[in-house]
Amino acid sequence: MERRDFLKVSGSAAALAAAGCATTAPSKARVVVVGGGFGGATAAKYIRMWDAKIDVVLVERDPSFISCPLSNLVLAGFAGMHDITRGIDGLERHGVRVVHDEAVAIDPSKKTVRLGRAGAVGYERLVVSPGIDFLFGEMQGYEQAMRAGRVLHAWKAGAQTMALRRQLREMRDGGVYVLSIPLAPYRCPPGPYERASVVAAYFKQAKPRSKVLVLDANPDVSSKGPLFKRAWSELYSGVIEYRGDSRTVGVDGDSMSVRLEVEDVKGDVLNVVPPHRAADLAAKAGLITANNRWCDVDWRTMESKAVKDVHVLGDATLSAPAMPKSASMANNHAKIAAAAIVDLLNGREPQPLKIINTCYSFVSSTEGIRVSSVHEWDRAQGTLVAVKGSGGVSAVRSQAEGNYAWSWARTIWADSLT
Ligand SMILES: Cc1cc2nc3c(=O)[nH]c(=O)nc-3n(C[C@H](O)[C@H](O)[C@H](O)COP(=O)(O)OP(=O)(O)OC[C@H]3O[C@@H](n4cnc5c(N)ncnc54)[C@H](O)[C@@H]3O)c2cc1C
Repeated sequence: MERRDFLKVSGSAAALAAAGCATTAPSKARVVVVGGGFGGATAAKYIRMWDAKIDVVLVERDPSFISCPLSNLVLAGFAGMHDITRGIDGLERHGVRVVHDEAVAIDPSKKTVRLGRAGAVGYERLVVSPGIDFLFGEMQGYEQAMRAGRVLHAWKAGAQTMALRRQLREMRDGGVYVLSIPLAPYRCPPGPYERASVVAAYFKQAKPRSKVLVLDANPDVSSKGPLFKRAWSELYSGVIEYRGDSRTVGVDGDSMSVRLEVEDVKGDVLNVVPPHRAADLAAKAGLITANNRWCDVDWRTMESKAVKDVHVLGDATLSAPAMPKSASMANNHAKIAAAAIVDLLNGREPQPLKIINTCYSFVSSTEGIRVSSVHEWDRAQGTLVAVKGSGGVSAVRSQAEGNYAWSWARTIWADSLT
């Protein structure tokens, strides 16, 4: 499609000009990216870096980027919101047009994305990296209790992170903080166990008679299990109580209790992470293909298996075997998609890429642990598989791993956003 044809689509030129994005240089095609998180921001930047003739429009509804990685340290008071908040407008340095708006609908037949304020924008290829939304309906009473401020998830960093920090600070010494974990797959497999650890570290310092009660719908600690359990027994004996096979089915904000399948459990602070799925936009656009939750993709290009010319990244995807939903993976998915889109728009056949996951977790204010893995295309299985013998976990928790965790975060923020 010629550039002039793009500009005809649904007044997209006017929409972008209105958003301060008037076009000047001729381009060979327009790629629209929805979601300026780890997946989307990285894809927008790398497409421009690898082919500056491609016009890239990034649509993000939030004014700034707040990182989920390290947000558990904020809850526990070991870091501030300013440490995990960044701008995304720096991407404009690469020629990415950043539009702060909500993508409300996708029309694959017209190849347009409708924005809440700026009208419709045409695309040759669309990248969708919208993250997750929650299945609140699977937990009776959740939404009502959340509206009343009696239960929080804090599983998207932002306002709920600050609210949960406040609740933990205001909790009486001797109180019980209940953390409920949904059945896998969920965003960031080690994230809840990190949260239990750093909240316990805060209690040990500030409220030594308080308890962390972990109610896990999974049978056992499902990521870095031996390392977390060792930290819990050596650092937080009597502070953290862990219960596997404990699925939350409801929340009662009046009695401050979590309803499990067989009993009710009371707490002073209720932090219940509901099951989740690919975010609303993916659902509305027909991108969800698996269990009404996730979007299946071709792992050589990240192109949706349901909707042509649309690439889905990050947590919204139906994960390949042994692949976690992580920032590290979303950033790598973005590079697969960017390379494939640049190839496709230049008439070349995309080549499969090998990608790496690295995921750090804090077990105290300063000590960290790590898990990593390498994933490569397996033609026979038609998916990415973990490379045997690659990666692994830290031998022991250490301050060095804690320092690496901060370096990892600063590096991935810079790689994705600047
Ligand atoms: C407590 C916690 C700790 C974590 N720690 C780590 C860690 O240490 N390491 C790690 O690798 N991962 C970690 N993760 C996981 C990581 O945060 C996610 O895997 C990652 O954010 C996924 O990236 P994404 O691009 O898929 O989604 P996101 O980063 O959530 O980005 C989605 C973006 O899309 C925007 N958006 C959505 N819909 C629309 C729309 N319709 N229009 C416009 N914009 C839209 C959203 O505003 C958002 O900015 C952690 C997660 C949590 C909750």
